[in-house]
Amino acid sequence: MRLIFDGGVDTVTGSCCRIEAAGAAVLRDCGLYQGRRQESAVRNRSFAVDPRGLRAVVLSHAHIDHCGNLPSLARGGYDGPIHAHRATADLCGIMLRDAAHIQEADAAYLNQKTNRRGLPPVEPLYTMADAEAALRLLRGHEYGHPVEAAPGIVHTGLDAGHILGAELSVFDLEEGGRRRRVGFAVDLGRRGLPLLRDPEPMAGLDLLVIESTYGGRRHEEAATARERLVGIVRRTLERGGKLFVPSFALERTQEILYHINVAVDEGRLAPVCVHVDSPMAAGITQVFERHLDLLDTESHDLRRRRGSVFPPWVRFAVTVEDSKRITASGAPCVVIAASGMCEHGRILHHLKHGIGDPRNAVAIVGFQAAQTLGRRLVEGQRRVKIFGDEFAVRAEVHALHAFSAHADEADLVAYVAAASPARVALVHGEAESRKALAAALEAAGLPRPLLPSPGDVVDL
Ligand SMILES: [Zn+2]
Repeated sequence: MRLIFDGGVDTVTGSCCRIEAAGAAVLRDCGLYQGRRQESAVRNRSFAVDPRGLRAVVLSHAHIDHCGNLPSLARGGYDGPIHAHRATADLCGIMLRDAAHIQEADAAYLNQKTNRRGLPPVEPLYTMADAEAALRLLRGHEYGHPVEAAPGIVHTGLDAGHILGAELSVFDLEEGGRRRRVGFAVDLGRRGLPLLRDPEPMAGLDLLVIESTYGGRRHEEAATARERLVGIVRRTLERGGKLFVPSFALERTQEILYHINVAVDEGRLAPVCVHVDSPMAAGITQVFERHLDLLDTESHDLRRRRGSVFPPWVRFAVTVEDSKRITASGAPCVVIAASGMCEHGRILHHLKHGIGDPRNAVAIVGFQAAQTLGRRLVEGQRRVKIFGDEFAVRAEVHALHAFSAHADEADLVAYVAAASPARVALVHGEAESRKALAAALEAAGLPRPLLPSPGDVVDL
């Protein structure tokens, strides 16, 4: 019985781990590696083992860094089951088709250049047909229901409290009369997140593999961020401006909508005009509506009082024409649109038209990578480029750092302490975060964790 760290070890993208017992191999997650173009192309195309030799895949959640390379696996000949929570299976329908669309569009764009230079055409990493093939393999299940992934490998998914449908994994392994239990807390949510329940605990583990994204860091209180957001909405709309919220379509958008509904319910905000300008976010919000039973008690209480979890008056802009109408309108409103880092998508059109107006504001509610427009705004740059043209930033820019769906260091240490595993391995984190978390675990009197390198094997 052994575990092999295939990906997402010393980085936060490309999550992939292999579990072997009784002669069978099962993959946990098959995430897209996102980095420099050339390196990403090589990493995402090559698997450590022949996909046809895998007995099953267990998928933790619908974030692209965990599910986004499943179409490559299908393209490589994998045709076994992909076990996931039923909400994850639904969300993957939207996430993987979108990912395939991006891969195809990306290749088409590159081929315009290669054609001109007479070079051979670039193949997309995968196509829509590959995504559809992967989607056909999905098998939805409930939290807490054991699934035999292979003889000797039984998987039980627990609520991760990270995004809708996200699971922590407990693998019960058996080989030659010996039993081992391995837990995965990757990705692990925060306690007290809106909409979601808190992460479920694990016990009796021989090994716990846990993420370290926020090792060395502590999040701002979520309640403080909600107060700030509500204040920004009120002030911006009162002075006749528009508030632009660049947001990921999955989870963050629904979280912001929930916060607005709560503030209206508590009488701290009038039912302000809110547009969600993203067909993808519209689809994902519908998936949430289909899985309301998974939400936390506060969400159910809110629904009983107001008739819905999300503000019923929200307008979803699906077509480009809908989007243009929001831009053209001078009415004060909140506009939530992708992409979360202002790199592409409809948010760019809104910023182009609105960033120069001092009545407007931008609320940054997610992580902003270096070199993105979102990061430039957070850094306070007064002139930014959008679609190649330079614009003066006269709108207010607010950065709210508390909206994270990941456990911070205190949460991670508390989770390990409660699970009390014989061994711990830290993955899914940059070198500094992993080191910081390792030090924090030792300082708390917990066993010194393993810091595996990609490809490392742990015998169980
Ligand atoms: Zn995630």
